[in-house]
Amino acid sequence: MAERITGHTELIGLIAYPIRHSSSPRMHNEAFAKLGLDYAYLAFEVDNSTLEDTIKGFRAMKVRGSNVSMPNKTVVHKYLDKLSPAAELCGAVNTIVNDDGVLTGHITDGMGYMAALKDAGIDVIGKKMTIVGAGGAATAIEIQAALDGVSELSIFNIKDSFWERAEQTVRNINEKTNCKATLYDLSDLDTLKKEIESSYLFTNATGMGMKPLEGKTYIPDKSYFRPELIVVDIVYSPAETAMLKMAKEVGCKTMNGLGMMLFQGAAAFEMWTGKPMPIEYMKDILEIKY
Ligand code: NAD
Repeated sequence: MAERITGHTELIGLIAYPIRHSSSPRMHNEAFAKLGLDYAYLAFEVDNSTLEDTIKGFRAMKVRGSNVSMPNKTVVHKYLDKLSPAAELCGAVNTIVNDDGVLTGHITDGMGYMAALKDAGIDVIGKKMTIVGAGGAATAIEIQAALDGVSELSIFNIKDSFWERAEQTVRNINEKTNCKATLYDLSDLDTLKKEIESSYLFTNATGMGMKPLEGKTYIPDKSYFRPELIVVDIVYSPAETAMLKMAKEVGCKTMNGLGMMLFQGAAAFEMWTGKPMPIEYMKDILEIKY
């Protein structure tokens, strides 16, 4: 690192709280080093109370860009100049790019999900997907899938505080894209079964299956899956959730959340540097298998 940092090195930030546990600094710095790019990626403990000053500082210091995580993802747009269409529709930003003083907010989670599918040889464009979730990750996936050309989305969620957000997402998709989206209550298991049966792909985009819900799934039994169905879980820790284990037993092609994590980073990396992330190298050093 000492050899890499010079007077010309450009800073990329990550602003969130808590954030010290993040694997993003390692991922981006390994990729910069591999490609010999003169950037350094550092995490900063920033919450809503210091967010505005941080963005002013980024402008003043001509920082090239930043990732943004909770609790700032749904607030930071107030301090930016422009938003990508997906960030606008999601109401969330996870990447900032500073082009000569113009700060644009992007959301790359959904792009990462779609790129991971493509990397795994899965083509969901023009097809139907059933997805569970209405939180930050789920919304980004649903919006990006609709923008990219998934023909139909059946969205399920429990009736918790995220329900209204799901209603808004469905309205946005139906008004602003060519995709047909419908929202269902996850407690209606007969409808869940029916919608999965007519889908090409099923995705869990909730925290079900990871701590504190590790070992659990809302899928009642194997009869909900068939061997031709593709089953995706965006949870990556554990790498194999109870739902993915069930899907594998049925014979489904499966994918965990590691690819989405890698490719959401890769999308941001390319926006900052103009260079594609060295994906196969990153898979090796981060021991990513999905
Ligand atoms: P969030 O808090 O914004 O959303 C939580 C979602 O889980 C909501 O839809 C909520 O209704 C649902 N939920 C909560 N308890 C539930 C239960 N008992 N049964 C069914 N649904 C329930 O969270 P988020 O940021 O959207 O993250 C969701 C999951 O996605 C987490 O496991 C996170 O680790 C994972 N994630 C993965 C990636 C990746 O790159 N692979 C990126 C972001 C998030």
